[in-house]
Amino acid sequence: MRGFSRRSVFEIATGVFICRCGGNISGTVDCDRVRDAVKSMVGVTTARVTEFLCSKPGLQIIRDSIQRHELDRIVVACCSPHMHERMFQNVVEEEGVNKYQLVHVNLREQCSWIHEKGATEKAVRLVKGGIRRALALEPLEEKKVDICRDVLVVGGGVAGITAALQLSEGGFTVNLVERNFSIGGRMAQLSKTFPTLDCSPCILSPRMAEVENDGNIRLYTGADVMSVSGGPGNFRVAVKLKARGVDSDKCLKCGRCAAVCPTEVPSEFEVGLYFRKAAYLPFPQAVPSSYAIDFENCIKCGSCVEACPADAINLEGESQFVEFDVGSIIVATGFDLIDERKLRSFHPEHPGVINALQMERLIENELTEGKVLMKEDGSRVKSIGYILCAGSRDPNRGVSYCSAVCCPYTIKQAILLKKHLPYLRIYIYYTDMRMVGRGFEGFYKEARDKEIQFIHGKPGELTPLPDGGLEILVEDIDTGHMFRNEVDLVTLSSAMIPSKGTKEMASRLGIALGEDLFIASKHVKLDPISTLRKGIYAAGVATGCKDIHDSVIDARAAASHVVNFIGDGRLNLDPYKPIVIGGCDKCGACIEVCPTNAISFKGSNLEIDLVSCNGCGACVSNCSKGVLRLPNYTSEVILEEVKGLLEDIDDEVALIGFFEDNICYTAADNAGTARIQSPTNFRIIRTPSTAMLSKDIIIKTLALGADGIMICEVEESHEEEIAKKLVEEVKVELLKIGVEPERVHLRPMVLPIFKVLPNFISDYTETIKRLGRIPEEKREMLIEQGALLVAPRAPTH
Ligand code: FAD
Repeated sequence: MRGFSRRSVFEIATGVFICRCGGNISGTVDCDRVRDAVKSMVGVTTARVTEFLCSKPGLQIIRDSIQRHELDRIVVACCSPHMHERMFQNVVEEEGVNKYQLVHVNLREQCSWIHEKGATEKAVRLVKGGIRRALALEPLEEKKVDICRDVLVVGGGVAGITAALQLSEGGFTVNLVERNFSIGGRMAQLSKTFPTLDCSPCILSPRMAEVENDGNIRLYTGADVMSVSGGPGNFRVAVKLKARGVDSDKCLKCGRCAAVCPTEVPSEFEVGLYFRKAAYLPFPQAVPSSYAIDFENCIKCGSCVEACPADAINLEGESQFVEFDVGSIIVATGFDLIDERKLRSFHPEHPGVINALQMERLIENELTEGKVLMKEDGSRVKSIGYILCAGSRDPNRGVSYCSAVCCPYTIKQAILLKKHLPYLRIYIYYTDMRMVGRGFEGFYKEARDKEIQFIHGKPGELTPLPDGGLEILVEDIDTGHMFRNEVDLVTLSSAMIPSKGTKEMASRLGIALGEDLFIASKHVKLDPISTLRKGIYAAGVATGCKDIHDSVIDARAAASHVVNFIGDGRLNLDPYKPIVIGGCDKCGACIEVCPTNAISFKGSNLEIDLVSCNGCGACVSNCSKGVLRLPNYTSEVILEEVKGLLEDIDDEVALIGFFEDNICYTAADNAGTARIQSPTNFRIIRTPSTAMLSKDIIIKTLALGADGIMICEVEESHEEEIAKKLVEEVKVELLKIGVEPERVHLRPMVLPIFKVLPNFISDYTETIKRLGRIPEEKREMLIEQGALLVAPRAPTH
């Protein structure tokens, strides 16, 4: 393989391939000018512009050039590396080039899409930075390690259940962790399901029973994942099991405990409409099929213990902890309904106002048992008003997105209500009717044929009436007709929001949330099931509102991803892991700073557990003896890129952003995809983590011509703490020589707020503009302070 014999910079053969991206890049970047500006740089053998670099003909150009020019470095300048880097790496590897000597320059999301003017000049610098980086890269080899073949599935709704069963079928051992005392999730609460109207428990219960009887699935209910350590392929998971108080193996489900229990509380399963006891069965088809004690409400009177014929109850039980290893994780933590206090104008506290999940329970409990709906005063409910988009598509009251399933489930409920109680008058107030699934349009038509009245308008508020009913006043926006209806019952088709558990799991697993606070996908279109962290996938409503059909598709896809990822139980470790290169004085700084406990002493030698190591580089930047090195992220390599980015600066000021790759760089990409403009004099360097940055790198970046540096790191991460410390230290150094400390700035970031990232960048650029360029004499002092710049491996131009 080319690249493994070290060549001098004059022997290196680099191919530069610039993509027009069908106008996406060439619309604002003059690609030919970029090529001409870089083609005679030392080390560049060929520079080409193509229309679509990622297409087969585009890739063929790279392949042919590698063979013709014996290239050993490749620079592709096209879309974001998050799109196609792996594909380009595979292609160059097939042609015999070490894939870690490929540099992917982002000319689209972080250049052409965010600059109307000056994009070409910035593109030239970005490509020069890429070329200089490429020249400094060393060939790397991946190591294969054994990984754990077991899987963790978090969340036992229909998505989690489906994924667990599919993995079990494939022979994998699955740890299914569900927070409630039964699996089933929201689907277990539904009456019938649209658009086929098949009975929800009838299709879900057999799958739940399969889980209970499946020898490959270890089911943990009443369970919470407390921590996840290690890394992809070998995660260590700690789970807390709430005391259940009832031994599931012994429980006969006779119900005597509940019969004698004196405490009644609203049932969560019945969404507060009915009561349950503190000794309770979560619902009739619950799995595990066993009663449980609600210790938050149990008064420990002991009646249940006495009544239990199987001696299954222990009121003194305590929470337990279990730990296990898994190679991969699926997050299927589902949704909650919006907090109805936000929908105050719809009077959610009024006894005549319920939400759609409560209506599911009413339909299931009352209508299928032949009863009618009753008002508080004991008379019949004769009219119902449905308010769609209650909190959805309404950023002032709730969320800005569409909850996707409210239109079809409202129609489902209306059809079921009409079927059981034909005398009901039903009004559906809608913003837009969205019935996009297969068979949904016919379903909608069926509802219209059943004399259900659809009114195209969303009421702003409801007025409670003295007789217990509610008045709904709204203008139909199609006809201009004002409707004033009095109804006995209002059902809010409330917004679906990410469950509390989704947010908790995201933070425990270090996976990003999107703008809507559902779990962010690696790529919305091309890789929707992968999260931004390798080996962790997400399914069902955890990634956004969807119906059962789509949740099941997600779950099956997630299971397939896990199978692919775990493969034969061996994993290629990426080679960006620290290497011990010298004698260590055992100061222990690296051990202290390592977030994954991957470093230890074996006798007098430092040992790094490559599987646990997440490659953040904190150990390297904190080693005062220079004993550790992070291949291809050494200060030497980083500063080569800096030099390219800052070459021939004619800008008012020049800024460098060191961006953590997973979340912060993605945030910049997302802002680019949203075409949010930002200043051209800000250039981003992608680093797996900013923890690898040292004082040395920052000072030298200023010495090389930067006037301001933004370190962008994940908010509330261990790495943010390290970056804070670094920024403080650098500020002290800058003050010593009279350089303004604001020239180094830490920007904590989370993905949901990506749209404001360009504002942060613009504001910081303005701050630096006010300070102006660093005067040359200060720059000289910075060079001295930076313990003199490293001798460059690649020549300057
Ligand atoms: P969920 O059903 O929400 O399951 C998630 C599970 O994860 C829950 O059991 C939860 O307790 C658990 N969990 C959460 N956090 C954690 C954690 N940190 N640790 C452990 N466990 C955790 N769709 C249809 O196709 N047809 C219909 O007729 C239909 N009707 C609907 C009616 C209403 C009123 C609503 C609101 C939705 C309806 N839907 C319908 C949508 C359907 O409910 C969802 O598509 C489906 O429930 C999604 O399943 P899920 O497994 O992704 O999430």
